[in-house]
Amino acid sequence: MQNLEESKIEDKIKKVDIKSLTLEELTEELGKYGEKAFRAKQMYEWMHVKLARNFDEMTNLSKALREQCAERYTYTSLEALQVQESAIDGTKKFLFELADGNVVESVWMRYKHGNSVCISSQVGCRMGCKFCASTLDGLERSLLPSEMLDQIYAITKLTGERVSNVVVMGIGEPMDNYDNLLKFIRILTDANGLNISQRNLTVSTCGIVPRMRQLAEEKLQITLALSLHATTDEKRRRLMPIANKYSIAELMDVCKYYFDNTGRRITFEYSLVGGVNDTDEDAAELSALAAPLCCHINLIPVNPIKERDFVQSETARIQAFKNKLEKNKINCTIRREMGRDIDGACGQLRRKNLKAEGTDNSPV
Ligand code: SAH
Repeated sequence: MQNLEESKIEDKIKKVDIKSLTLEELTEELGKYGEKAFRAKQMYEWMHVKLARNFDEMTNLSKALREQCAERYTYTSLEALQVQESAIDGTKKFLFELADGNVVESVWMRYKHGNSVCISSQVGCRMGCKFCASTLDGLERSLLPSEMLDQIYAITKLTGERVSNVVVMGIGEPMDNYDNLLKFIRILTDANGLNISQRNLTVSTCGIVPRMRQLAEEKLQITLALSLHATTDEKRRRLMPIANKYSIAELMDVCKYYFDNTGRRITFEYSLVGGVNDTDEDAAELSALAAPLCCHINLIPVNPIKERDFVQSETARIQAFKNKLEKNKINCTIRREMGRDIDGACGQLRRKNLKAEGTDNSPV
């Protein structure tokens, strides 16, 4: 066991994580060692366009510089431990190992309009939503900007296909890792990097109001998705502990603020849980919440996890719920289930892996 002094020293000598630097920061960092701006640009391109896995691959940089950098900086990269492919729709689920041995999941989906990747933002999660597998073991740590980028980079290399859409909807709560999330967005959508359009990026949150407000003020063109899942505070508290902290009224306020600041339509995610939030009355209440806002509702048939006894709503009920919303002129879709033959719900593959390694310490 490390004592506090040792861990403080370790923090001090922690190396700069080079892939988490913006081009501006990289230019400044290399400048400290007398390197010109064009070198930083070359290196940035190796990291974020050519997706090099280490300094050694950067063949137009001198061997001496590559060696110095390898000495000076941390260069993250992921190891694919497992890849599952759906026989139904080709969806691929990746289990990636990080440098410290932790694992996260990412999902690759092919749509008509391009390839979409769903990434994790943390190792585990501390939000405690009752139906979610990612939170059962709590939060281990947040991901670095580089580790979020690496999921997209590794999948691009492994599939050999360009990623056009990114959703931050995997393991973790992105607003609980706000600064790293922002850095990740800046680098991912940078014209000097992979240059993914901000409009093709969605960040999903369980509803941490102050961070949503802050995000609105960044005036980005990304889509903000709110995991709503219930229409009254009382019902929401039964599903999501975060509802004890922020009310639905506050959430609706901040959603309006986001739209007013960015002009971007909000997405509400609403997981339908049989007998819990799927009645006609729920649909009417949801319509009333949604009507004053510029929003789209994504209905998600809940993906049952074995640790909890929530069940999916009947197909006819889901359709009736949708019809009710549509009658009220609310824009909505039922999310198509992708990869239902592989470990679908987020967090399930990671948990399976923890159990296999005998490190599972969950109370269930
Ligand atoms: N923490 C973020 C993002 C990760 S979860 C958030 O809460 O939005 C991504 C989405 O999947 C959320 O809407 C979440 O509520 C939902 N989700 C989690 N587990 C689910 C399950 N078993 N079935 C259906 N939706 C689920």
